[in-house]
Amino acid sequence: MGNVKIFELEIPKNNFADIQEWTKKTLLGSKQTTVAKINSEFLLRSQKDAEFKEYLLGADLLIPDGAGVLWAATYLRLPITKYQVLRQIQAVYQMIWTGASLVFRQSYAKKVLPARLSGVEVLKTMLAGCQESGQTVYFFGARAEVLSESITILKKEFPKLNIAGSHDGYSDKGAKVVADIQRTKPQLLIVALGSPEQEYWIRDNLAKLPSVKVAVGEGGSFDYIAGAGVRAPKLIQKLGVEWLWRGLFAKNRTTTGPHRLIRIWNAVPVFIAHVVKYKLTLTK
Ligand code: UDP
Repeated sequence: MGNVKIFELEIPKNNFADIQEWTKKTLLGSKQTTVAKINSEFLLRSQKDAEFKEYLLGADLLIPDGAGVLWAATYLRLPITKYQVLRQIQAVYQMIWTGASLVFRQSYAKKVLPARLSGVEVLKTMLAGCQESGQTVYFFGARAEVLSESITILKKEFPKLNIAGSHDGYSDKGAKVVADIQRTKPQLLIVALGSPEQEYWIRDNLAKLPSVKVAVGEGGSFDYIAGAGVRAPKLIQKLGVEWLWRGLFAKNRTTTGPHRLIRIWNAVPVFIAHVVKYKLTLTK
């Protein structure tokens, strides 16, 4: 099916069934792999932070998570003229056109990447793959009460899922949790510490955890599952502006208020400007 390239990152055109199959197969394999869910903040950080970019370039599976990634993929694939002034006008015109088509003609964007794979849905897809493979999962991260509430909910949805263990993301992030994962020997490891901490945690610890075949940087999924980060109304989700709703109204998140708004500022206007600038450096 080929990949979509954003900046230097290759994002495969997977749908949920592909991800489930990949998870099942990889959990039963012998190689240790890493999965990163890519949103616009990730892409932006990869441009500014070489260490983070290196991690993403080395990841075995990149999953597009968020309307921004879908937009960038759609926008960057449109050809652009080589004539200087015209080029800038065309870049801006294409930005507006692809942005509008993302909101009003989602079938167009889906030709580029088959789906916006939301973080929670991807987690559930991977858990379904884990359940099918008969392998075990370990959940690491989030506040203790959020994590245990999430596990209760997930157990109901995946009654045959084998949970090796779990640990919150605040009381310990070092030797104790590493020892617990070594003792319980999961094949699937879900790490939800926020980014980029979770990515660096995986990078620094994976070799010490030989049972783990798939390590996933998860982000805020447990907060959603436990209801701490309530999802936006369906219409807002459909319009692809859930990030804005969350930034303005979501409660109980690790990052709320002004800090969240700064993140939104980076995730939207700064990100768009970066992608347009990048497009103008492309030779075709
Ligand atoms: N988190 C954690 N330990 C920390 C910081 C964050 O376990 O030291 C958890 C946090 O509780 C949340 C997840 O990491 O469940 C993602 O955090 P955040 O909301 O900052 O990330 P986002 O999903 O917005 O990128």
